[in-house]
Amino acid sequence: MIELSRRNLLVGAGLATSFGLSSRLLVDDAFAQRTPAPTKGFITYKVGTAEVTALYDGIFEKPHDPNFISNASVEDTKAAMVKAGLSPDFVSISGTVTVVKNGGKTILCDSGTGGYAPGWASGNIAANMLAAGIDPAKIDIVLISHFHPDHIFGLMEKDTNKQIYPNAEIVVSDVEYKFWTDPTVIDKLPEARKGLARRIQATFPAWKNMKQVSGPAEVAPGMTFVMTPGHTPGHRAFLLSSDKESLMLSNDTMYVPALNVAHPGWRGAYDQDGAVAEASRRALMDQLIADKMMVAGFHFPFPGVGMIAKDGADYALTLNKA
Ligand SMILES: [Zn+2]
Repeated sequence: MIELSRRNLLVGAGLATSFGLSSRLLVDDAFAQRTPAPTKGFITYKVGTAEVTALYDGIFEKPHDPNFISNASVEDTKAAMVKAGLSPDFVSISGTVTVVKNGGKTILCDSGTGGYAPGWASGNIAANMLAAGIDPAKIDIVLISHFHPDHIFGLMEKDTNKQIYPNAEIVVSDVEYKFWTDPTVIDKLPEARKGLARRIQATFPAWKNMKQVSGPAEVAPGMTFVMTPGHTPGHRAFLLSSDKESLMLSNDTMYVPALNVAHPGWRGAYDQDGAVAEASRRALMDQLIADKMMVAGFHFPFPGVGMIAKDGADYALTLNKA
């Protein structure tokens, strides 16, 4: 795969020279990916008696954009990426889906990009599930943190919207569901999000296996929703507790740790309500520190599990080694 990528880049560059074009025009996004995938795309570990598996989906190497963070410059963003040990050339946003086996149930935590969320080089969940010995037909429950494409497109086929987990119960926040399925929301959303709302409205209301829950409900054996609004109106983290051990799946409360953990006050365009999102992430990180609790973030570098600590007025993430 990497060899193929390099060859395509070279061919692209050669053609670009002979035709006087920018090489960028000739290189498919997927081939231009610069971050290698982990050699092993799944990691299994224990939280109490629960078995937890992190599955690598892929990566979005987001080009820099001066409008991405309203109160930080592109130079600030590059410096933050370097401080986190990452390339300054793009904002590194990887995707990791978690499967929890607990209380006799197999629980999928968010579904991933489906391989077709805009900008992503991804689509590895089915293969990594197979490699980890998880049968997708035996997923009992799917918990959804929020309705952004990289978290819900894995629920449905790209062209037909056919369900990938038709026999599972799909649990969502009632607030999130109501926001995205309101017919009037399409007109209120920015252009880039209108298609997403249309897709949601064309699918979820017809799915009989989708269950809405209110507040910090118990949603699976040993698992509860944690109210973390702001990224979207009904965004939820998931708390897993088993045999006196706990893991917080923070989902997109702190989506890119190099930016949102280190600088919780930076206002990124992906947070729908910046002030509410900041309050949620500070509260969640303070709780993680007070409870000395392990955290797994959907967009943390794979396998995405670690501990949060205070760093002056801000915070720092120490990732466990894979
Ligand atoms: Zn996300």
